[in-house]
Amino acid sequence: MSLGEFDLIERFFWRPAAQGPRHAVVGNGDDCAVLAPRAGMQLAVSTDTLVEGRHFLSTVPPARLGHKCLAVNLSDLAACGASPLAFTLALTLPRVDEAWLAEFAKGLLDVADEHDCELIGGDTTAGPLAIGITVMGELPAGQALLRSGARAGDDIWVSGQPGLARLALEAFRGTLHPALPAEAFDAARLAMECPVPRVALGQGLRGLATSAIDLSDGLLGDLGHILRRSRVGAAINLDALPLSPYLAARPREVQLDCILAGGDDYELLFTAPPAERARVQQLGDALGLVLSCIGRTEAEPGLRLWRGEQVPVPNQWTSFDHFKGAA
Ligand code: ADP
Ligand code: MG
Repeated sequence: MSLGEFDLIERFFWRPAAQGPRHAVVGNGDDCAVLAPRAGMQLAVSTDTLVEGRHFLSTVPPARLGHKCLAVNLSDLAACGASPLAFTLALTLPRVDEAWLAEFAKGLLDVADEHDCELIGGDTTAGPLAIGITVMGELPAGQALLRSGARAGDDIWVSGQPGLARLALEAFRGTLHPALPAEAFDAARLAMECPVPRVALGQGLRGLATSAIDLSDGLLGDLGHILRRSRVGAAINLDALPLSPYLAARPREVQLDCILAGGDDYELLFTAPPAERARVQQLGDALGLVLSCIGRTEAEPGLRLWRGEQVPVPNQWTSFDHFKGAA
């Protein structure tokens, strides 16, 4: 190893003193970082780990990997309506590759700066490549968006155009016939490797949405979490699903697989009363983000799919489970 652990941390992950702690009272470099929550605010905390081969392919450029590791954590804050404050980074590296670390750190810290989210500490060890991030955000007390708040008769909304990350994955796996044109492949790959956390949308939904979740495991599986926690059912209108132009050329079944069961989208799925439809649309317009009303929650438990008439729910559209099929 050409660089020791502490040199590595200082060189790649500490900011110059001038950029000093912004949100933390004590930032990086001591035994603990110290945060002082503002009066009337609550802390929102979430952790996500990305493991090579399971959550990302070894082909991902390191800057994009750095981006994605923090973006998926910011997406959890977004789903709660929290504003980012700070994060810690647990880095497990197979070797010290300085060029790789410089790129990874740039991708990571660029997203951090974009969301004013300060790196306040971490841990660095040797082992198979894995990146664990714990992110902290703040919220006005009692205003967190939860999975449990949906009421029967709410509209079900989704942001953006989910499905492209799955399209990219299938392209990498070589299962698409005909293969994706280069432009579509690049766009899909960007969606998979550089998801955009919907942080401003989450904050805008405070006091407007009744429940929210970010799409990490697939739209229907993630909707299932809201339905179970809120004790409601849902009817989804397949014809109302947003369709990316890059998916439009694929067969309808592939489109639906990607949109409903794709995963790794990091769009927000949320519910809101029909009376708030205009406010939701105004929020989308203000953010330049397409928000689509794709169905409605119902008192009757379970999931019903509509395509003009009701159609069965295929098994493969249930949630992706990391332990399913594990040896
Ligand atoms: P300790 O042994 O007290 O846990 P460490 O030696 O692990 O401390 O880390 C020294 C300092 O460097 C701590 O402030 C820690 O938060 C920080 N740190 C360690 N790894 C990272 C990392 N990957 N990114 C940012 N800060 C880190
Ligand atoms: Mg330590």
